[in-house]
Amino acid sequence: MLFYFYFRMFDVPKITGIISARNAKTIGFQFPEGLKRQAPALAKEVEAKTGALVIISGDPCYGACDIDDALLDMVDVLFHFGHSRISDDDRIVFMEYYHDVDVDRAVASALPLLGQKVGVVTTVQHIHKLDDIAKILTDAGREPVISKGDSRITYPGQVLGCNFSAVPAGVDSFLFVGSGNFHPMGMRLAHKVPVVAADPFTGEARLVDVEKIMKQRYAVMAKAMDAKKWGIIVGMKSGQQRLALAKRLKDIAGDAVLISIKEISPDRLLNFKVDAYVSTACPRIAIDDAGRFPAPVLTPVEFEMVKGLRSWEDLALDEIAG
Ligand code: SF4
Repeated sequence: MLFYFYFRMFDVPKITGIISARNAKTIGFQFPEGLKRQAPALAKEVEAKTGALVIISGDPCYGACDIDDALLDMVDVLFHFGHSRISDDDRIVFMEYYHDVDVDRAVASALPLLGQKVGVVTTVQHIHKLDDIAKILTDAGREPVISKGDSRITYPGQVLGCNFSAVPAGVDSFLFVGSGNFHPMGMRLAHKVPVVAADPFTGEARLVDVEKIMKQRYAVMAKAMDAKKWGIIVGMKSGQQRLALAKRLKDIAGDAVLISIKEISPDRLLNFKVDAYVSTACPRIAIDDAGRFPAPVLTPVEFEMVKGLRSWEDLALDEIAG
């Protein structure tokens, strides 16, 4: 069974073809956590077929933004698995990974919850099913709308946790096909239009409720209201760096310092003794790890709300534009 998944996951002829076309001698492999267990077998196979040396990145990898830059400098080509392209560096080859799961049951479950004109989005793992999703909607008498995103987004209809630019305007509901709550929550907060999340793995669909996350975020902002000293975090992962934004926020904050961090965790914030932080790195960090940090960690959007530069009703998730 493992063997079957291994062959469905990796396009070995494409990998070996690129290595031989580039005459590459030293190769880097980078995988998200869920695919790492397959790495040694793939490395051995590619070494045997090409004679090249493969180095596997052992560091955590959360997205296409998270390139192992040190490894990239050591190799002729870096294969980054599981995510779609957000960098134009031609030393990196993005090898996307698609889930082989049907979307039909989940989309059928979503139909009673959807309006007439439906904005359709998904993650790269299901992007090859976008036409199937649109057909199910059309057959049911709905009008699917699929839009292009900015340069951070590879495919029409694709969303990232930090970028909803492919979410279409002028629709009366959204259909998100995929797992997890972060993407549909961000769409709901950004567009104030009902979002239906359809999970292909369970076949179930639900209307997305943002009340809990809103309560959590307003509580974090309330704690930061009296902050005098601020730490503005600059993410050091290549696809998360927003120094210009961090500088602008530092000017607004007044008593503030810039702090560069690659892997942001509660431990790393313990010793700075500031009252509150703003993270300009991956927008998920402030949200997913809320409650574990030693001081409030806000997104740039929330910081502007606390500083009175944005309406208190105007809560949205932070986005990194391409
Ligand atoms: Fe994903 Fe965060 Fe990277 Fe965006 S910045 S691609 S949400 S890991």
